[in-house]
Amino acid sequence: MERNTEGSPGNKALFLDLVGTLVALDETRQLPLGPDGAIRLVLMPNVAARLAPERDRLVFVVTNQAGVARGRLSLAQLEQAMAELDRLLGMVLTGWRICPHDEGDGCPCRKPRPAMLLELAADYGVDMAASLMVGDQEVDRQTAANAGVGGFAWAADFFGWNVS
Ligand SMILES: [Mg+2]
Ligand SMILES: [Zn+2]
Repeated sequence: MERNTEGSPGNKALFLDLVGTLVALDETRQLPLGPDGAIRLVLMPNVAARLAPERDRLVFVVTNQAGVARGRLSLAQLEQAMAELDRLLGMVLTGWRICPHDEGDGCPCRKPRPAMLLELAADYGVDMAASLMVGDQEVDRQTAANAGVGGFAWAADFFGWNVS
């Protein structure tokens, strides 16, 4: 199946947080790194199956990665990891945005600030009011509100982790 890479006015988008939403986090709530410093992507339960039917939507990952500013990992490593994530998810992603800054940098992109989402909205003609954001932290819910995204769902609900 073809992913949606075109976009057009009125398109609904799905904005996804990364760590704790799509992939597992470590004890410091960051992407786990192996002993060699490589990013270890571990998909959260049901993520690939739940996203498979979403490929008619624009699907974006938006992630804060202050570890870049702090020297923990590189933007190149993250770009490689996002491409690998896309393969693990069955090539359902339309694109992604990474904020490499730290809190003190005052950038416009670090969530809960909305620049990553607003750039994607402009680039792809997203109908924000008709779109949905999924995240695992309050900062994600605030980001959705700040960007004018109409819907928000907690990752646990969206991916069904609460269902026994
Ligand atoms: Mg998260
Ligand atoms: Zn930033």
